[in-house]
Amino acid sequence: MVTETGVERLQNYVDGRWIDVAASQTQQVRNPATGAVIAEVPLGGAAEVDAAVQAAHRAYASWREVPPIQRARYLFEFKNLLEKNFEELAATLTREHGKTLHESRGSVRRGIECVEVAAGAPSLLMGMAIEDVATGIDCESIRQPLGVFACIAPFNFPAMVPLWFYPFAVACGNTFVCKPSEQVPLCQRFMFQLIEDAGFPPGVLNLVNGGKDVVNAILEHPLVEGVSFVGSSPVAAHVYRTAAEHGKRVQALGGAKNFLVVMPDAEMDKALDAITESAYGCAGQRCLAGSVVLAVGDAHDRVRDGLAQRARALVMGDGAQEGTDMGPVISATHRKKVLDYIDKGVAEGANMVVDGRERTSEEGFFVGPTLFDGVTPDMVIAKEEIFGPVLCVSTARDLDDALEIIRQHPLANATSIFTTSGKHARDFKYRVTASMTAVNLGVAAPMSFFGFGGAKGSFFGDLKAHGREAFDFFTDKKIVISRW
Ligand code: NAD
Repeated sequence: MVTETGVERLQNYVDGRWIDVAASQTQQVRNPATGAVIAEVPLGGAAEVDAAVQAAHRAYASWREVPPIQRARYLFEFKNLLEKNFEELAATLTREHGKTLHESRGSVRRGIECVEVAAGAPSLLMGMAIEDVATGIDCESIRQPLGVFACIAPFNFPAMVPLWFYPFAVACGNTFVCKPSEQVPLCQRFMFQLIEDAGFPPGVLNLVNGGKDVVNAILEHPLVEGVSFVGSSPVAAHVYRTAAEHGKRVQALGGAKNFLVVMPDAEMDKALDAITESAYGCAGQRCLAGSVVLAVGDAHDRVRDGLAQRARALVMGDGAQEGTDMGPVISATHRKKVLDYIDKGVAEGANMVVDGRERTSEEGFFVGPTLFDGVTPDMVIAKEEIFGPVLCVSTARDLDDALEIIRQHPLANATSIFTTSGKHARDFKYRVTASMTAVNLGVAAPMSFFGFGGAKGSFFGDLKAHGREAFDFFTDKKIVISRW
């Protein structure tokens, strides 16, 4: 459907059909590199969620009886279609999100890897059995699907994050409702066209566009068995509480403030290249983005000067242009939020080394790479998630001091150490509080066959996203004890 202004209005995908949504409220989707409106998304509510959940519930009865090997074949077909449409998907991602094509390709690839791992369900769903738990009595543990699951996604990985969940859920025999971020709904629209082409039975996978009303309706719907959420920590806490109150399984991945420790013995050039990519790649809008560098001992001056030189050299522009290192942030509202944090850092007395405010532009939602030095743990820019291209340099006396600074932060998503000392690396990974930890890498990103998720205020729940844990989250382990 096309609106009066010639912009496409998105539909929901429910019960195997694309349907118009009669929502009174809509939101414009913009290309962040130009500010141009590229689609309009209806902000539905409880009625749209109910239609999708009822369709998923109906489909569940027969989908759970489809043998796992056949369910996996639908995923193989979906994967083939994702491969065939790889470049177009990456271009769609860049157009709605603003990240570079290189980054978009990487995240579509990571999404496809989730489909590949989920297609291993026939092996990964196997249970356990033992004879003679007592004489003549046998016992088995069988993984069974539970019913309808749903995911609620953030704006920063529009193609990949929903794929952390629904391939695994349906491979296990559940049915699904996906709610993408209303800021970036186009990649999932594209993927659901491929899901339709892959021939999944109607109702197995459903797409509902919208904002918080859709989220709250999912959390309260009696037929939704479990919810996977990825987004900011305050919303993650709300989702965790509300879904649990309504008797659902829930895994809620929240925000981050990621510390990168640089020891004096680090291979400095490699470390600073990795930190620059971590902090400014995706314009700092990754939950794994480096946010505070803890320069240990006499590493400080080399860290500050090397990072300043690299930040200044980054090419900022439309992510669709080859050669761009860093695109815009997601929206005008978000740009203002990031700029307010930069002003706050200056007001708090941090030393401005590279000022990204000098590189904003009239067109698009750009903020230049920004580097602060002399940042102390009590400053707001050291405490709160900025989610933009702003990197803070702080100092730590030694590794113990660095670990203590990290321990005191309430968020604990990802972290890195740069060192040539095996002892320092081992101490760090043994003691650090963040649960995604890297040694000599700037982005501690677990692959799809491992679990993904943080600790403390960065994660609410117990079973993390993808990997083997997905098969625990999306199944019940039934115990059958038999005597004949
Ligand atoms: P967000 O919390 O604003 O939105 C996430 C989802 O929640 C969206 O689908 C949105 O529609 C919905 N939502 C927003 N406000 C709501 C409310 N009040 N009630 C109910 N639903 C609501 O997050 P975002 O800005 O889209 O994404 C960025 C955040 O996501 C950052 O904090 C980032 O660290 C985090 N993130 C975390 C991970 C991780 O693995 N831990 C991965 C990616 C992003």
